[in-house]
Amino acid sequence: MAVYLALQKSVCEESGQQDKTVAVQKCGNPPYELSLRFAGCNLKCGACFASAYSWPEKYRSSRRVKVDIPIERLMDDFNKIPKSGKSYNWMRILGGEPLLNEEYIHYLFTFIERIARGNTKCFNNGIVIQTNGLYLGLHDNKLIESYLRKIHTINPSLKIAIEISIKGSNPDEFSLLSQSSRDLFHANITAYKNLKKIESDNLRPTVIAGFGINESYLLSNGKSKKSMMTIISRDNIPIYHPDIWADEFRALYYQFVDDWKNNNSIFSKMPMYGIKDEFNYNWVKYALRQAKNIYGTVFYDSAYSTHNEVIENKISELLEYFFLVSNQEYYSELIK
Ligand code: SF4
Repeated sequence: MAVYLALQKSVCEESGQQDKTVAVQKCGNPPYELSLRFAGCNLKCGACFASAYSWPEKYRSSRRVKVDIPIERLMDDFNKIPKSGKSYNWMRILGGEPLLNEEYIHYLFTFIERIARGNTKCFNNGIVIQTNGLYLGLHDNKLIESYLRKIHTINPSLKIAIEISIKGSNPDEFSLLSQSSRDLFHANITAYKNLKKIESDNLRPTVIAGFGINESYLLSNGKSKKSMMTIISRDNIPIYHPDIWADEFRALYYQFVDDWKNNNSIFSKMPMYGIKDEFNYNWVKYALRQAKNIYGTVFYDSAYSTHNEVIENKISELLEYFFLVSNQEYYSELIK
């Protein structure tokens, strides 16, 4: 077993190379976020923008992926980031899959334990870990609980949000989105319930519906209709539409909004991560091309598909159940 990381370029170094473990990345308002990216995943989502360093058959051959980097090197990169000005928005741990197995978990939480001993105000005392939740759904999570408790003792100010990315509202949809076995749907959905069993005051468990409708449509709450994009689950019904929710997803949905409704009124619905359409970056174009190739006729894009009023009405109905706001607003809320 081994732990793989994807190296990054730090935006605080103008002519920087893709050689940093911990880096400043453009997310939220300046001075942006700190991030650490794991490589390797146990799913293979068709719209994954990180497929080159995540998909099971690809990540080991990516040039930016390195294996078993000592934690000291992560600390070096973290310590070299300029910290004299305004705090970075948060620290985000993403992938790949950061909670891929026990070895990844030991590695990640050993790093967090190390930074918890120092200045965490420089990233607003907030860490967001983004996971597909499979490990959480399949284990009792005592290992993570013991790390969280220890970290809370070391640094009671530090909050750790663990955000589970849901990959579909029923087993077939899960299989379609993740290109993986429908049997894993249960683990993906159960992850939130299992995470909530962890008793540690620094933990913020949360979920997000992954790869729903396109971002500009979600962010404008349906006003920006120029290109409505989604994946069709079946019979002209887009993914996550309540007509096709499995009972398990329905229970998760209402449990989640009940848990979060008092934090901020935006959480009267479930957050949804959209199919990216609003950035003119190469990685966005690559992920869109990849998704269109994989999903073929079930990838609906109103700019190219034959206009389908039934689908578009169903897409607009999703806004009653899901929301997306700016990264700044959303992540800041998670780490409050
Ligand atoms: S779970 Fe995340 S990292 Fe893994 S394939 Fe899906 S989108 Fe990519």
